[in-house]
Amino acid sequence: MAKATTTIRQVLNHQAEHAAWFAANQALFNRVAAFYFEVIQAHEKILDLGNQDALTALEKLTHMTQSNPTPVMPLSEVQEDIPAMFRRAAIHAALGSARSFYSHLSKWRKRKEKATARGKKIHERPPVPPRSWNKSATVYAGQWKERADSSIMIKVWTGSVWSWIKVRITGREIPDGVEASSPSLIRRGNHWWLHTPIEKQFKSPPKIEKQVTMNAQTKICAVDLNINENIAVCTIRTVEGSILTTKFIGGGRRVNGFRKKQLGRIARRRAKTGIIAEGEQDNADLWNKIRNVDEQVAHLVSARIVQFAQEHEAAVLVFEHLGNLKPEKGKYSHRGNSKRAFWMKGRIFNYAKYKSYNEGVLTSQVNPRNTSRECARCHSLVARYEEGKPTEGYTYGAPLVLCHQCGMHGNADRNARLVIGSRLVERYHKSSKEKPQTPLVAERVSKDTGGVISQDAKSVGSRPSPGSARHRDRNEHGTAQDVLLGMEKHASDIPCQLRFSFE
Ligand SMILES: [Zn+2]
Repeated sequence: MAKATTTIRQVLNHQAEHAAWFAANQALFNRVAAFYFEVIQAHEKILDLGNQDALTALEKLTHMTQSNPTPVMPLSEVQEDIPAMFRRAAIHAALGSARSFYSHLSKWRKRKEKATARGKKIHERPPVPPRSWNKSATVYAGQWKERADSSIMIKVWTGSVWSWIKVRITGREIPDGVEASSPSLIRRGNHWWLHTPIEKQFKSPPKIEKQVTMNAQTKICAVDLNINENIAVCTIRTVEGSILTTKFIGGGRRVNGFRKKQLGRIARRRAKTGIIAEGEQDNADLWNKIRNVDEQVAHLVSARIVQFAQEHEAAVLVFEHLGNLKPEKGKYSHRGNSKRAFWMKGRIFNYAKYKSYNEGVLTSQVNPRNTSRECARCHSLVARYEEGKPTEGYTYGAPLVLCHQCGMHGNADRNARLVIGSRLVERYHKSSKEKPQTPLVAERVSKDTGGVISQDAKSVGSRPSPGSARHRDRNEHGTAQDVLLGMEKHASDIPCQLRFSFE
């Protein structure tokens, strides 16, 4: 079985005065957690125990009962009558912090030892225990009850007494068939939220190798992430090589335009205010805007990719390795923009990976080398060119490709995607010395267009060596232009439209 976890975030529609109670409750939670952190510091050996035994040991040190009348460090000195489940939640919070702190500390000590042994001085400062505590209170069962879709009863410290309050909740409900953990009370500005981690169990998907070698009809979704208008282009193909359908996820121009505008404003403000003091965050509001939009776009695009793969029952998502950021020249807004576009590709990949995994779809990455330069049919190097220009050489970003070896010609983006998909299949078929199947049967372009463009199946050419192109592909094979060269109608003018909230 495999596990997938996520958090359900719900808003608490509480009475105005309850906000102060939640705050008092959280403050007490942190006082108790800080107290237990000190108890652990005084008894470091506790960290050698598992969480359950550590809890028992800490309660013995702090909690007064008939059989334990004089604990060493009584919790009652912090506050009397703390409910058991509140105490235990705080103990676990303290244990988590302590484990993290001591593991950092021991790593630092090792580095120091190493440095000393080589006669060097360590400049890095040792980690320090938390100076202030600002954790959100976890609410263990016993501190909450009667949880329904739209309300929950929670027991909170109001600042003077313990009180059960009924709170209405809105937002996504907890889905069926998942296991919910203890919720936490989270403060966001003046509002309080209930965050509930949930865990879904499902049958682990078979290994990619098995799916690709055992069944020629296994569907693969090859994804090409771009920095131009089409943020992602996805193609579904089978292992044996039929191209089934393609989807263009657009909106890149709008995102880039928005980002560039904000970066330009930041640059102008900087020019006005002069030098920025070290460590000072300038233009915080503008940076936040950019961050929010990037985050939103990455979530939207990754969700669409996974949705598309699911609609077509793809078993595997395959991306290129994203490689390293190549610094660019130019104005601040241009450099900053391309850097952020690059980071966003990484985020889209990561989000698509976990979102697809939650649906039982695995993700893989292939070598990005020459994906745009190689012919998807015969692996020779292609010529890449602009329409109306000579069909030779290699022009970055040009929309068309022609393979002089086998005659394959058409859209450069499409060729690259086919290469990405083939590399995954070839990885597992190499051992069997089988010639890679070349994906050239028929393709239905994006369901958004409804168009069907078929294409003759051509025989598979022999495989010459991929050649020795020295330049790495800059992964900018994509243009907004439509191409119709008997191969594919480039559907970039009718991509899947995303709605962004900044518009
Ligand atoms: Zn070729």
